[in-house]
Parts: sequence; C-alpha cells; structure tokens
Amino acid sequence: MRKIDKKFRPIPEKLKDCFQERQENLLKKEELHQFDSQCYNSSIKEDLKKLYHNKCAFCESKLNEIPNDSYQFTVEHFRPKKGTNSYFWLGYEWSNLMPSCQKCNGKKDDNFRLPNKRKKQKLPLKTENGQKIIDLERCRADGEELLAENPFLLHPELENPMDFLAFDINKLGYFIENIQNKRAKYTIDLCQLNRSDLWEKRKKIYDNFLTELKDKLVELVEIYGADYTEKELKFGFHSIFKKMYFGAIEEQTEYCSFRLFLIENFEILFLEKIEADEMKDILSEAFVLFLNDVEIN
Ligand SMILES: [Zn+2]
Repeated sequence: MRKIDKKFRPIPEKLKDCFQERQENLLKKEELHQFDSQCYNSSIKEDLKKLYHNKCAFCESKLNEIPNDSYQFTVEHFRPKKGTNSYFWLGYEWSNLMPSCQKCNGKKDDNFRLPNKRKKQKLPLKTENGQKIIDLERCRADGEELLAENPFLLHPELENPMDFLAFDINKLGYFIENIQNKRAKYTIDLCQLNRSDLWEKRKKIYDNFLTELKDKLVELVEIYGADYTEKELKFGFHSIFKKMYFGAIEEQTEYCSFRLFLIENFEILFLEKIEADEMKDILSEAFVLFLNDVEIN
C-alpha cells in the first residue's frame, strides 16, 4: 500500500454532477439507492487511474480492463455504501472513492470496523433554501467527524500505510505489522494482503533478482577472474541494479513497497545468500558503486 496525494477539494466537476442528479433519490432510498458504475467510470475513472498509477489502492497490483477479471479496474468505496454499516451519503464523496481489485474488495464490502461504534457518523444534513441536503463538507475523509471514527482500515490518502505495515524478512513476500498495531493487522486480514497469488508474485520478484545477480557473478568471475576493473564491475551489474532501484522508487511499478524493502535489506537478502566470500565482495563492491552513481546523478 502506498500513500497517495489526493486533493479532496474541489470535487471533480463530473462527480459533482453525478451526485447532484442523484441526491434526491439517494436521500429517499438511502442504502437501497442504485449506485451505477457507469457514473463513476465516466466521471472519475481517469483521475483515479492517474493518481493511483492504475494500481489497486490496497495490494498495488496493476489493474486491467478485462470484464469480470479479479484485477479489473473498479471504483470502490472506502467506507461502504451498502449493508449494515452503510454510509450511503458518502457514495459520491471524492475522498471515499479509490481504485481496488475485486480480490481486495471481496471481503471488505460490509466489513468496516470502528473501535467505537457509537462514534459512527450519522447522515450529515444541512438546510439550504428550505431543503434538506447532504452536507458535503462533513463528508470529507479528513473532516473532524470522520477522523474521530478512527477506523481500523488504513486510508491510503490520509496516512502512509507503510508507517503501519512492513514485510517479513523471514517469510519473503508476506506483510506483517510494522509496529504492534491492530489497524495494520485488520487491513492485512480484510484485504487479504497475504493471499497466495500476491505473496507468490512478490516472492518471485525477489527470486528473479537473486538468480540474475548470481548468474552475473558467475559470468564475471569466468571472464575476468580476480582481474576485473571498476568499469567492468559497474557495467556488469548496472542493468540489474537499475531495474531493482528504479522499480522501487517509481510509483507506477507494481509492488514498489516490496521492491523498496529489497533494496533497503540488500545485505541480508542478497549478500548473505552468496556463499563464496570472494563473490560476496564483488557484489558488495558493485552495489556500493551503483549507489554512489545514483546519488551523484
Ligand atoms: Zn487489490
């Protein structure tokens, strides 16, 4: 999960139009109101795609346009619009909408836990021209009432989820709690962030890099023995390190938080996996040279 910088106001014009056209029906039907996906797709899909780099807000998987695929791009509600925990009044609220894959959203639907149910916001109304309408300012995720709910689910537009989440160094690909925190555990469980297809994909990123580095070491030693120069060392590993490094810092890459964890733990995760001391030294030297280059540029 990545922190996303979204400006909550002004509300995108087209979304505002969708809401205004439907507000009367929404207030009449409440959670039975028909929320049509077409309205979201035509109003904010492109904005969300851009903001989230076409990735799921929870699992960082790339989203696609294949109908009924588990990873089809879908506009989802952070606070549920239906069910027993419904916040139907947030159905068209910009700060409540984010892209999610079907898998992360599957269990999420009605499941939205608060530490204190009594703090749950009630339908925020105000009167304008003698008519009761939804008070949009009280619908903002960063508004006083909604912040005071302090929900368990981490909100990627309000906080940096990686302040709460971490990766397990012993069980590669698995999310754990960064700090003993109920919210981190709840988010991992609710969005099933450790489901098998996900941790396998993350683990594979690591396995592939380790294999590439090992192969390159063997190749280098075969060609140069101990007589390699700094230039050969830099050149030899450059493309692999570049892929590792920029994949970690560029938000459009899938699972970049996991990639960053690999770079930050290079010594334990890569150097310590190389058996021959001589090769370990070569890899360590090459990595330092690469980092120096990156820092200079
Ligand atoms: Zn997802």
